[in-house]
Amino acid sequence: GGTLYGMRAVTQSKKLQNVCYEIRGPVLAEAKRLEDEGHRILKLNIGNPAPFGFEAPEDILVDVIQELPTAQGYSDSKGILSARRAVKQHYEVRDFPPVGVEDIYLGNGVSELIVMAMQGLLDNGDEVLVPAPDYPLWTAAASLAGGTAVHYVCDEQAGWAPDLDDIRSKVTDRTRAIVVINPNNPTGAVYPREVLAAIAQVAREHELIVMADEIYDKILYDGATHTSIASLAPDLLCLTFNGLSKAYRVAGFRSGWLAITGPKEHARNYLEGLDILANMRLCANVPAQHAIQVALGGYQSINELILPGGRLLEQRNVAWEMLNQIPGVSVTKPEGALYLFPRLDPKVHDIRDDERFALDLLRDQKMLIVHGTGFNWASPDHFRLVFLPRVEDLEDAVGRLEKFLSTYSQ
Ligand code: PLP
Repeated sequence: GGTLYGMRAVTQSKKLQNVCYEIRGPVLAEAKRLEDEGHRILKLNIGNPAPFGFEAPEDILVDVIQELPTAQGYSDSKGILSARRAVKQHYEVRDFPPVGVEDIYLGNGVSELIVMAMQGLLDNGDEVLVPAPDYPLWTAAASLAGGTAVHYVCDEQAGWAPDLDDIRSKVTDRTRAIVVINPNNPTGAVYPREVLAAIAQVAREHELIVMADEIYDKILYDGATHTSIASLAPDLLCLTFNGLSKAYRVAGFRSGWLAITGPKEHARNYLEGLDILANMRLCANVPAQHAIQVALGGYQSINELILPGGRLLEQRNVAWEMLNQIPGVSVTKPEGALYLFPRLDPKVHDIRDDERFALDLLRDQKMLIVHGTGFNWASPDHFRLVFLPRVEDLEDAVGRLEKFLSTYSQ
């Protein structure tokens, strides 16, 4: 490294060279700067339910407060037994392959477990198939672990279903795993059983580990049903990730789990690696582990928000309809999760740099979205918007967007 101000430059490690997480990148930094200047920013950038009035079920809060005195010490590195038993039971009644408490790891959110799963698996040059667009932590975690995320395309014309031919064409000798995000962030797609079965078949043929991110599995609209890919592949090593951040609205608790199913004998070495990583971080935040049993066993209040008359469903409908009315904007109706991923027709909107688009929109209209390339989408023609804000705010936001787009060019 060179010198700066007469001192040796302090640089980030080479491990971070290809690691990015744009959801909290430079555009958000600019939004914070504008807020410091006194501007009110309409935030449609992050899937964080509680600040929008989607508060946690009361019974979760009561249980965590009650358990706080008993949650002072470290727990087992995989987590407290009562929570792992609750996760096991949760899957038992769902037609899942057999899963024992020893197959369940609790983490500080799904995020920590994703990083551990990748750190434990990948050597330099190893590849992981990751969807495009993706939730970008998956790509970042693969890169940080020394591997390469190879992106398979999801097809907007097919309701954003993964393109099976593209998946097959991208398998190499170095491919170790395939990541499936279902329901999907950022597209809102919920994958049909046949698509999941076909992905499982590719994994079977090429001996890939299946990594299923199912954090939105209970946030479904219009009667959509969720299928866990693990339930279609009891003969494959599947890592299924889920947690309390979304359906139970306690994202700040940092509480998630990983359930491992399928044959394990051949994977013993990898699983020992996961144990090392779990031991190194001692355990997940213990008070938040106590939220798991009551969340899974208690009243499922998420259903009130997503069924007819529910606030989330209504907000999705309003945002989807309004966005589709903007000239040159089209958006697939999300069947799950909390996001819309609209397309900006390049014939109508001349956008070459979508991060700049997000910045310009922020500065001009004081509203915050995330540009599509931040989700490893290859072309600068999409963006993501969260439909957590109330209908009035969504109407306001889409109105501002329309006004902005009517004169914007790069
Ligand atoms: N996976 C997906 C698809 C997500 O959208 C998110 C959060 O937005 C996460 C994982 C991270 O969740 P957690 O809060 O459990 O770390």
